[in-house]
Amino acid sequence: MTPIPDTLAGLSLNPVEPSTTAAADFLARGPKGLLIDGRWTPAADGAEFPTVDPATGRQLAMVPRASAQDAEEAVAAARAALKSGPWAASTPEDRSRMLWRIADLLESHLEEFAALESLDQGKVLATAKFGEIPGAIAQFRYYSGAARALEGTTVPTSLRRQGPDKQIFAYTVREPVGVVAAIVPWNSPLLMAAMKLAPALAAGCTVVLKPAENTPLTALLLGELLLEAGVPAGVVNILTGFGQEVGAALATHPDVDKITFTGSTAVGKQLVGDARSNLKRLTLELGGKSPAIIMDDADVARAAAGVSRGIFDNGGQVCVASSRIYAHRLVYEQVLESMVIHAESLNLGHGMDPAAGLGPLVSRAQADRVDTYVAAGRAAGVSVLTGGKQGGAEGTFFQPTVLSGVAEDSPLMREEIFGPVAVVTPFDDPAEVIEWANDSRYGLAASVWTEGLSNAHRMAAEIKAGTVWINCHSYFSPELPKGGHKQSGWGYENGALGLSNYLESKTVCAVI
Ligand code: NAD
Repeated sequence: MTPIPDTLAGLSLNPVEPSTTAAADFLARGPKGLLIDGRWTPAADGAEFPTVDPATGRQLAMVPRASAQDAEEAVAAARAALKSGPWAASTPEDRSRMLWRIADLLESHLEEFAALESLDQGKVLATAKFGEIPGAIAQFRYYSGAARALEGTTVPTSLRRQGPDKQIFAYTVREPVGVVAAIVPWNSPLLMAAMKLAPALAAGCTVVLKPAENTPLTALLLGELLLEAGVPAGVVNILTGFGQEVGAALATHPDVDKITFTGSTAVGKQLVGDARSNLKRLTLELGGKSPAIIMDDADVARAAAGVSRGIFDNGGQVCVASSRIYAHRLVYEQVLESMVIHAESLNLGHGMDPAAGLGPLVSRAQADRVDTYVAAGRAAGVSVLTGGKQGGAEGTFFQPTVLSGVAEDSPLMREEIFGPVAVVTPFDDPAEVIEWANDSRYGLAASVWTEGLSNAHRMAAEIKAGTVWINCHSYFSPELPKGGHKQSGWGYENGALGLSNYLESKTVCAVI
């Protein structure tokens, strides 16, 4: 492993004191609790764990470390709220208004959420403030509308009439799937939670939310606002804690009807087994190794800037990050040059420092993981055109890195690194590059950069991925379904497909 220097080229760590940020009040406010049945409570066994600022290692707060016993209580509260009380009796309009109120409250706390996400996760403030928190708000607004558009169908059947005066009347209704365990990762914590909570609540489900252990804070602030919005007790329960502990307890719980999970493919596969006992419904949003293909007729400057943002934003800790970049040989050198300039223009720094273009990765473990990949690549003869170094006092920073000369079978090309590491490869033949793009166990997303309309749509048809962007990358909106083909997941989030994740269909067939 590379030794950790205290400083890196471009690292001007100017840590921002949490007490001077918009998150100060939340951080100073009393002990943090689990939200179970509408009340804040310590973990049943009193256990806690610290959550830290990854840039400095400084503790931000202690939060409860939930166990299976807390999962038991939270699931019981969610079940009770589903069966009776105000939520069970709520109308689509009630739920719609509730979701809109949540969005309004989030909006009025936008600065606070953005600061908290930056401090807890490391991301630069602007990413949270202008991207992820507004994205979370948009989820609640979109599903506020969708809550009022839950429709079944009437179905003409071919069944024979039972008698001269009898008719068959059949229809379908949509019903909430029940108690949902929502398990989310640390890369975009509030946004990932909102992508699950908003449609689940629109459908009438109740939820136990488990944020990632590295980034529990925005979920807890959200919990405060859910109570303020009037979400009835037990409808949303929030358990901070570890995946192998409370996460696994939720995943195997016999009274959980559905798991909605965003995270790694490895844990997703584990959940397939966990869901088996009572055949829980399962939505899996998993890892990726997304290709970006830059054709020779592309607007190269725009393409290079787009794929650079695609891999360096949020330190590459983005499921759809453009981690494999294929550039036509005629534009390859130009793409490399622009990407190197883009990478070197990003100042490493504390996420709350306005001068920072890139914050730390979420943890030392994550930065070590990235370093291990890059070090192995270097040993195998890969060219490091810029970056490639880990650093900072806590070893959590990693320079934006551009690599070339990476073999197709290299782990750098095949595995999800989840760091700011771009692998750039030239191609000559568009048919061959599609094969390379599809030669992956993942199928989450891809982008094609070209000014040729037919090229673009032909390639979009041939690429095996849940999303294909043309002349853009990482563009999301609640209207646009998002999901993974192959080992990138099961099911879709966003849009009407996202809502149907939380609904069962019931057919009623009557002789009348
Ligand atoms: P992770 O799989 O390690 O953890 C995700 C969540 O699962 C965390 O809350 C964790 O505590 C919990 N968990 C871990 N083990 C568990 C278990 N045995 N049972 C139940 N819960 C368990 O993922 P991560 O490292 O937090 O996040 C990074 C991964 O998430 C990357 O692979 C990334 O691609 C993926 N991701 C995917 C999408 C998408 O939409 N496809 C979006 C964001 C992130």
